[in-house]
This record gives sequence, structure tokens and C-alpha cells, in this order.
Amino acid sequence: MTGPSILTTLATIALCLTAVAVTALILLASYRASLKRHPYTDCRRCKGTGERRSRLFANSFGYCPDCTGTGNKPRLGARLLNVR
Ligand SMILES: [Zn+2]
Repeated sequence: MTGPSILTTLATIALCLTAVAVTALILLASYRASLKRHPYTDCRRCKGTGERRSRLFANSFGYCPDCTGTGNKPRLGARLLNVR
């Protein structure tokens, strides 16, 4: 039997790996650009309001301890990749 030569096979594998690497790089670069432009997300515990309502008294509230009342938290990627 005469299949493709070992060189052709290796070249195909190298080409595929390069394509995957380039795609991953482009995705990472666009994700990083998104983090740079929008580094914050809504705080989950107060849903971005920055305040915590009392369970007992409906009108009383305090600042959210998670986001210290800002309602914003840094996105996961911004914390992990240290994007400022
Ligand atoms: Zn909060």
C-alpha cells in the first residue's frame, strides 16, 4: 500500500497545530482587549446595586461588604491576568 509519506503527515500535523495556536492567540488577544475596556462586572451578591437590604426591616440597608458599596467587581480574567 502507498499512503502519504511520513513527511506529508508531519507537515499536515504541523499546519494544524499552527492554525490552532494562531486561533487561540487571536481569541486571547480579543479577550484581553475586552478586559482592558470593560474590566468590571456587576457584584453578584448585591446584583450591582452596592447595597444589602435587611431581611427584617425592609427599608434598612447597608453597604455591600463584597464590593464595598460600589456595585462593581473586577472580572475573573482581569484578576487572573492582572489587566489594568
Ligand atoms: Zn456588592
